[in-house]
Amino acid sequence: MAVLSILTAPDARLKEPARPVERIDERVLALVDAMLETMYDAPGIGLAAPQVGVGLRVFVADVSAKEEPPSPLVLINPAIVWRSEELVVAEEGCLSLPEHYGEVTRPAEVVMRHRDREGSLREIRAAGLLARCLQHEQDHLDGILFIDHLSMLRRNMILRKLAKARRQSRA
Ligand SMILES: [Zn+2]
Repeated sequence: MAVLSILTAPDARLKEPARPVERIDERVLALVDAMLETMYDAPGIGLAAPQVGVGLRVFVADVSAKEEPPSPLVLINPAIVWRSEELVVAEEGCLSLPEHYGEVTRPAEVVMRHRDREGSLREIRAAGLLARCLQHEQDHLDGILFIDHLSMLRRNMILRKLAKARRQSRA
């Protein structure tokens, strides 16, 4: 199993909506395993397939604290089926936007329906960090980054810095 390389913005592949998984076959399971390994290696609390250049509606997450045992979640073809009216603001980061953070307003709680790696239909009711993580990763499947929730000024500033950092790392 290999750690995959994570795309960083600006990259057109991060802006493309992903397509549904038609069949949970060995290829999809191998992708999920590699994504989990990549997320833990980064380390991060969530990773969506488009971030590793795969346009499928799949993401992995684990919001357990360092001292807790790992609790990996695998979400295939996820959909948010309920959102709370209550909104909360919190700072977010993203493995595809390294070293940049921003305050994002999102529903405080959500219910997400998805298939797990065995193909069973499941629902998660989430609040707090998990609710935020699930919504952030779901956004990735629609080509949306957390900076798309910020002002255009702030978004462009972050994208300019990332483009500059990339030019310097190539030089
Ligand atoms: Zn992200």
